[in-house]
Amino acid sequence: MSGVHYWETKGLKEMSQSEWEGLCDGCGKCCLHKLQDEDTDEIYHTAVACELLDLRSGGCSDYANRFAKVTDCLQLSADNLANFQWLPPSCAYRRLSEGRGLPSWHPLLNGGKKHKMHAADMSVRHKSVSEGLDLDPADFIVTWPLEDVD
Ligand code: SF4
Repeated sequence: MSGVHYWETKGLKEMSQSEWEGLCDGCGKCCLHKLQDEDTDEIYHTAVACELLDLRSGGCSDYANRFAKVTDCLQLSADNLANFQWLPPSCAYRRLSEGRGLPSWHPLLNGGKKHKMHAADMSVRHKSVSEGLDLDPADFIVTWPLEDVD
């Protein structure tokens, strides 16, 4: 795809709200529960997803009311991005904040479609379970959320 894209010319802090929101690939990985070792602070990713996550699409099933329904849901912004080192390496916000650009499978580079992201195995689809099943996340520690491809 040719042409200059807004995420290549603007810094994260210069983007409009719609441009910022548009960066999210909808992978759903940030909506997986994480565990932190109390002694080492190391973070472990699990395959157990927030109850609001649509496991098929990777999107939030109630985006407008997510903060009211899930008290520990966090708002990402350019101002607090430095606090979100637990974001998966494939996350568009993390990639751009680290100067790595967007990957070829990102929906913004594919007409808004997610098929290449799913084909690259970069979303939660077919790999996660819902916390609604009352599972112990400690039994579902996984490393695939840490994978990334260009
Ligand atoms: S990990 Fe990043 S790109 Fe993926 S859904 Fe979460 S905020 Fe969006």
